[in-house]
This record gives sequence, structure tokens and C-alpha cells, in this order.
Amino acid sequence: MSFVEDKQKIEEGDHVLAWMTRSDVRPIKVQSGELLNNRYGPFKHEDMVGRSFGAQQASSANQGFIHLLSPTPELWSLSLPHRTQIIYGPDASYIVHRLKIRPSSVVIEAGTGSGALTHALARTVSKSGKIFTFEYHESRCEQARAEFESHGLSEIVQITHRNVCEDGFAIDTDIKASAVFLDLPAPWTAIPHLFEHVDRSRAVHICCFSPCIEQVIKNIYALQAAGFQHIEMVENQARRWEGHQTMVRTVEESMDLLRDIRRRRQDGMDFRHGRVEKRKLDNYNPWGKGTRVREGDEGYNWRPVSWMETDIKSHTSYLTFAILPPTSPDKYK
Ligand code: SAM
Repeated sequence: MSFVEDKQKIEEGDHVLAWMTRSDVRPIKVQSGELLNNRYGPFKHEDMVGRSFGAQQASSANQGFIHLLSPTPELWSLSLPHRTQIIYGPDASYIVHRLKIRPSSVVIEAGTGSGALTHALARTVSKSGKIFTFEYHESRCEQARAEFESHGLSEIVQITHRNVCEDGFAIDTDIKASAVFLDLPAPWTAIPHLFEHVDRSRAVHICCFSPCIEQVIKNIYALQAAGFQHIEMVENQARRWEGHQTMVRTVEESMDLLRDIRRRRQDGMDFRHGRVEKRKLDNYNPWGKGTRVREGDEGYNWRPVSWMETDIKSHTSYLTFAILPPTSPDKYK
């Protein structure tokens, strides 16, 4: 099972993302004899074999369940072992779209970091494309290489241990990239090294990912000096909107509600200070919340509204996009 191919049924050796909660997604490689443990007890790997991706599996103790999900770059970004800050789905999809990355594209990426974006790039370029990714931290580079291999991506992703700011992007292969993505502390020092490795017969799209505006300004000067055009900085603020119903009350209903609250408070105080007996309180709890009304209950007037979910992971940096025109302008694509 790889991150670029779809599959229906789980087999021995497949990668599965075990969804426990939104903040707890665990990557596993299915191996008979192994167990996945959580607070609901053990889940036997051999019980996963033959199930469909997306299926539920109950724990051996039958105390809870998990969902067995097919690996995607988005889910991987929620479950991967972080070695660095990473790029999450909302930014990754925008980057892929703006860099015009497609099946068969050739892309340069630096640094690789935890490989979160590399997975999204690899899925898009698919088996006919290539990602040349560079990482100067040796053990991080080796860990990413092992993950790409284990995820079936080594044909698509070529990772090189290299300091691209000092030593450039030269490797034994002629790269000819049409898209470049730089997530480095100083992208402006890597930009001048790009020329020989991009496809000058077509428009080359670049994105620099930098967390502060001073870095953005340096990137823009370096891009201008290198002949890039259409320079634009974007901040991606992904929000998920939820639909709800809110109760509409008339002025009279609101007044009744306020009167009820005042009556309860008064009854409660009277009871506490011995001014009234409990049985005279009509069998209700003056400190209670009153009748519980659920959203959408009949007998009330509801209006549809929307509000946004706040805990979505997205912005970490500013995205600076630019285009290097081809040497022959009529080939501008
Ligand atoms: N985009 C990655 C992801 O989604 O997982 C995260 C990249 S991480 C923030 C930045 C990486 O760039 C680090 O792993 C760091 O070691 C690497 N790096 C920094 N300077 C570098 C350089 N000059 N050449 C190559 N890699 C470099």
C-alpha cells in the first residue's frame, strides 16, 4: 500500500492510519501477531486483514473501536512523528494548486523536514513525475528517506543530504524543475542557485514559506534580482464553517424567560433563608437550568446560522509566490 495508490481491502504489510480521535491518529503497518493498544484495550493486527479501508474495528476487549483509514498525505500530516514544524493540508493544497503541480511535474523542495509536504507533492506528481527534495540535517534526511521507502515513494522522491544555501541543488541528475518550494530559514540565499536546475523553456513557479515579514522582504528582493515576476505574498487562513440553528424568541418570550430566571433566583434565596418550605417550590429545583431545549426541537422558532470551527491546523507562515518567465516568451505557459 502506498500513499499514491488507492486500495479497497487491507492486506498484510499495508499502512493503515488508525483514527481514535481527531487529535489521535496512529500510523501502523499491519503485521500479524502485533497489537495496537489504546484505552479501549488491544486491537489485533490480524483482525484488520481483509477489512475494507474506512471500516470500524472493535477492541479485543470490546470496549471501544477505531476506524482503519487509508493513508493520505492529509491524514499522514496529522499522525506523523514530527521532527520539525510541518505543512498541513490547507497550506499544502493551496501550494500545490498555485505552483501548478500536476501528474508528471518535476519539483524541487528544500528542506524536507518531516516530509509532510513531500507526501502531498508526491501524490500529485504521481509515478510519472519526480520530487527532488534536499535536507541538510543528516539524521532527519535518513529518517525521511526510510519513510519514503516504506511508503512506496522512493521511485517518485529523490532525497539528497545537502546544504542548498551554500552548495546549491547540483546532483548527478539533470533536474529541469517546473516548480520550486523552499521551506528554509533563509530561502533568499538558495534562490540564486536555482537557475541551472529549472526548466527555462517554460514558466517556473516558486513558493517561499517564511514565518516573518522580514524574511518575506528578503525573499522578494532575491526573487526580483533573479528575474522572477508576478511576486505575491499570501497568508492562508483556513476556516471550517459549521451550520447550526439558533432559537428566535419574541420580545414576550424573552421577557418570560427573564421573569422565570428572576422567580427561580428569588425562590432559591427564600428557600435558603428559610422563608419558604421546599414542598412549596412546586417540586422544581430553583438552581436548575430549567427545561433543556435541544437544537431544532419542535415547538420553537429556529433560524439557520453558521459559525466557524476554531481548532483547524493551518497557518504557520507567509507564502510568497512568483513566476520565472521562460527564456523564450512565446512559450510562456
Ligand atoms: N516542509 C517540511 C514539512 O512539511 O515537513 C518542513 C520543513 S522544516 C520547517 C525546514 C527544514 O529545512 C529543516 O528540516 C532543516 O533542517 C532544513 N534546512 C534548513 N536549512 C537548510 C539548508 N540550507 N539546506 C537544506 N535543508 C535545510
